[in-house]
Amino acid sequence: MNITIDFGGTNIKIGLVEAGMVAAKKSIPAHSAGGLGSRLPDVERSVHELLAKAGVSLQQCSGIGLALPGIVDSKRKQVLSAIKDKYTDAAGFDFTHWTNSAFSLPLAMENDARAALIGEAAYGAARGAKDAVLVIFGTGIGTAAIMNGAIVRGSHYQAGILGGHLATDIYGETCLCGNVGCLEAQASHWAIPQRAGKIDGFSSSALARENPLGYEGVIKAYAEGDECARQLMDDLILHWSAGIVNLIHAYDPEVVVLSGGLMKSAAYLLPRVAERVLALAWTPWGTPRFEVAEDPEISVMLGLSHLLCEARRP
Ligand SMILES: [Zn+2]
Repeated sequence: MNITIDFGGTNIKIGLVEAGMVAAKKSIPAHSAGGLGSRLPDVERSVHELLAKAGVSLQQCSGIGLALPGIVDSKRKQVLSAIKDKYTDAAGFDFTHWTNSAFSLPLAMENDARAALIGEAAYGAARGAKDAVLVIFGTGIGTAAIMNGAIVRGSHYQAGILGGHLATDIYGETCLCGNVGCLEAQASHWAIPQRAGKIDGFSSSALARENPLGYEGVIKAYAEGDECARQLMDDLILHWSAGIVNLIHAYDPEVVVLSGGLMKSAAYLLPRVAERVLALAWTPWGTPRFEVAEDPEISVMLGLSHLLCEARRP
C-alpha cells in the first residue's frame, strides 16, 4: 500500500493506493495562499485518519508520494520553483525530513501534471502509448509529456510541464510566470475574469453576473446564448487549440490526454478543439488520438504510486 498526497491549489487530496487501485481517499481544503508549512499538521492528521478508516497500519505502507504544482526536482525531492500565491514556502522545504519524521516511509515527489500523465500512461487514457502529452485544465493549465516511453523531465526538471507557458499571443496578457501571452494567461480558469472584462458589452452580459467567473460560468452563459460568452468561448477555443498544436509540434505524441474540470464539457468542447488542432498541426504521419482522462484526481494518485513501485524495483 502506498500513501499519496496531491497538494492542489484548492484541495489537498490524500489517497491510499494498492496495485493500481485507489483503496481510500480523502480531501481537505488547501488554503494554498497561506503556504505549505501551516497545512502539514492537518495533512499528517488526515493521513492517519484515512489509514484508520481503511483499517491499514502505517507499517503496512511501503512509501509516500507527493505531487505539487511548480518545478519539482524528483531526484533530490525538492520544489525548485513554486507557483505565485500557491505554497510559496514549498521552494527549499525539506520534504524528506518531514516525511521521515511524520511517517518513516520512502518518499517519491513529482510535479502534479507529470504525476497525472504517469498515472494515465500506466493505467488510464494513455495506456500503452510510447509518446503522449497531457493537458490539465485546472485553475492554471498544467502539461506533461512522455517520449519513447519515458516521462520527459529535462536537465532542470522543467521540460514538458511548462506547456501552459508557451505563448499563444505575443501581444497578450502578462502571465504570473513573467512571460507575455502564455496559454495560461490567455485561456486558463484564473485568466477568465480579465479576458472577459475586455469584451464589449461585458457589464451587461450574463458573464458579469457570475461570481467568481471562471470556466463554468462561461460555459453556462454560452449555453444560454449570451453574445459576450460566445465571443469569449470562440477565443478560448483558438488558444486551447494553439496550445495543443504547440505540444504536438514539440513532443510528437500519438495520444493527447485532456484532463481537469473543464473536461466535464468535453462532449461539446472536444470536437471543436480537435477539429482546429488537426487542421493546423503538422503531422504528416497521421493524426494524434484525443482521450479524456476519466478522473484527474485518481490519475495523480496512481502516478505517484507507480513512481514508488518503480523506485522499489531492483
Ligand atoms: Zn506564463
